[in-house]
Amino acid sequence: MAGVYCAKCLSCGYESPHATDGSAGIIVDEPVKSVGTHRENNRIVVLMHPLEGSILQETGYTMRSASREGRLLHIEKVFCRSCGRLYETRKLVARIGCVLSAVLVLAAVAGGATVWYLTSRVDAGFAVLCLALLTLAFIGTLCEAVAASMVRRRFPERRAAYELKPCCPDCGSTKYRSLKAFIPRRLPCPKCRQRTMKVEMVGIS
Ligand SMILES: [Zn+2]
Ligand SMILES: [Zn+2]
Repeated sequence: MAGVYCAKCLSCGYESPHATDGSAGIIVDEPVKSVGTHRENNRIVVLMHPLEGSILQETGYTMRSASREGRLLHIEKVFCRSCGRLYETRKLVARIGCVLSAVLVLAAVAGGATVWYLTSRVDAGFAVLCLALLTLAFIGTLCEAVAASMVRRRFPERRAAYELKPCCPDCGSTKYRSLKAFIPRRLPCPKCRQRTMKVEMVGIS
């Protein structure tokens, strides 16, 4: 599930376009006829929720092959903190894949069950399970960060062609706010320029 967000100005009533928080995109060599084709770049196919699986099939890649070949993008919409403009950022990333994730989860469950069996204490087993899940989640994140760093070093031309760094196309500011970030300070409104714009979650897609 992905949250749908919108910023509303409390002074002039301006509403920003609706946007979902981060999604994945696949870089393709030839344009693909797909509902996920990016509006501004037909070499990017966005894995829109809840059609990620079928859109991914249309591209002919899997998460693993797309990661390995430097074709997986993390796409995120952000608000400029200087002028309130909503814009897109893109970064080449890599995923560790379902098999490795499943192995890590199974390892955590096995650890918890073993402690439960040896100590005959459910709470001890549960504590070990939680600790193991947290540790393995950390290891998984670390593996993905290392894989992403390798992919980004290996495909500099793709980074140059497809990545979009956080930099506002209107005012050039690099200060931004993620859609779901909890920052109580109001954003400036692109229409009336007052700092009275509030980000709200308006739905789930
Ligand atoms: Zn700006
Ligand atoms: Zn306004």
